[in-house]
Amino acid sequence: MLPRNLEATTGNGDKGLADRIDCAVIGAGIVGLACARALAMAGREVVILEAGDSIGGGVSSRNSEVIHAGMYYPAGSLKARLCVAGNRLLRDFAASHGVDFRMVGKLIVATDPAEEAKLADIMARARVNGCTGLAPIAAARAREMEPALSCTAALFSADTGIVDTHALMLALLGEAEAQGAVLALQSPVGGGRSGDDGILLEIGGAEPTRLLARTVIIAAGLSSCPVARSLGLAAVPRDHLCKGNYFTLTGAMPFSRLVYPVPVAAGLGVHYTLDLSGRGRFGPDVEWVAAEDYRVDPKRAESFYAAIRRYWPDLADGALEPAYAGIRPKINAEHEPAADFAVHGPDRHGAAGVVALYGIESPGLTSCLALAELVKEMAA
Ligand SMILES: Cc1cc2nc3c(=O)[nH]c(=O)nc-3n(C[C@H](O)[C@H](O)[C@H](O)COP(=O)(O)OP(=O)(O)OC[C@H]3O[C@@H](n4cnc5c(N)ncnc54)[C@H](O)[C@@H]3O)c2cc1C
Repeated sequence: MLPRNLEATTGNGDKGLADRIDCAVIGAGIVGLACARALAMAGREVVILEAGDSIGGGVSSRNSEVIHAGMYYPAGSLKARLCVAGNRLLRDFAASHGVDFRMVGKLIVATDPAEEAKLADIMARARVNGCTGLAPIAAARAREMEPALSCTAALFSADTGIVDTHALMLALLGEAEAQGAVLALQSPVGGGRSGDDGILLEIGGAEPTRLLARTVIIAAGLSSCPVARSLGLAAVPRDHLCKGNYFTLTGAMPFSRLVYPVPVAAGLGVHYTLDLSGRGRFGPDVEWVAAEDYRVDPKRAESFYAAIRRYWPDLADGALEPAYAGIRPKINAEHEPAADFAVHGPDRHGAAGVVALYGIESPGLTSCLALAELVKEMAA
């Protein structure tokens, strides 16, 4: 629903015409909010169109809340560049805006010689990516740090941390609004078209309306591809859903830092993360699904026990409890290589004034401020 004051902002009271605005950001998740802030701070007039009745109800509220350091992603990829840059930007932003975060550090552990070779690959890739704070450590040192751990070798990442994602989103929105951005909740973009005088957006909800925007940023998470198709964009990737389930623990928490195995296809392996209250959880696993469904099947615990006991053999039977699930917005199918973030401008999709973000899975939270800088430049 568009705020009442938007009519005054756009200066168009005629119901027959679409209101004209400078810039529409579709989606009020962490990425859309970061883009809205960057554009508003650059002096652009921004309206954030969010389908839900609150901010951050999508992928941004169902993740691990980890500030990644950038050691995993292929050299030169957007994921590598934006994660490394975003790590520093996010920490600086959080520190200067009162957003709770803690650089708890992370151990990446090998449990046999084959996995040790993978640690060496991760270390080499980290160097190329400019990832800071990562060093190999011996198994004995890892066990000194985390006595419950079983491993044959490890890497320690000092520049990995955790952040209060919701507080981060509120801070981004607050700064965007302070620069004049307007948030419109319950405003689902249901279609539109681009023309010579801008991009016409059809907005549904209780009070359907239309907006004519000079610039449109598509940051709709799991819906970015369908939204882009509804606007008639070319080269929209095929989208796929990949669920990640989490389990929590009934007993005492085993580790005081994040603990990751070596990565597996489509994910980082069943790892141990903490929230800022010190509560631990394991996940996410990898489950390719056909539709959005956030229930956690308790039977999936079986594969968790096996994966976790490789690095924490003392995990007791019956200790895991279903927690929550998130869904990764994938733009590669299960059998295809992992895709990079895709940020398409007019050269890719043919619509002047539109920047479309697809496949913003992990490390999208870490990268949000760096992604927003890229989007701001592309939208200039
Ligand atoms: C299991 C899991 C774990 C993860 N862990 C991490 C991690 O530890 N660290 C990290 O850096 N990243 C992590 N990520 C990735 C990170 O969570 C995402 O990259 C990020 O949250 C994406 O934000 P977004 O704003 O693009 O999408 P979203 O948060 O989904 O926001 C999109 C918004 O668009 C709205 N919308 C949709 N359709 C429309 C429409 N038609 N009109 C208007 N609005 C619309 C939605 O309601 C939603 O609010 C993880 C992801 C998953 C799934």
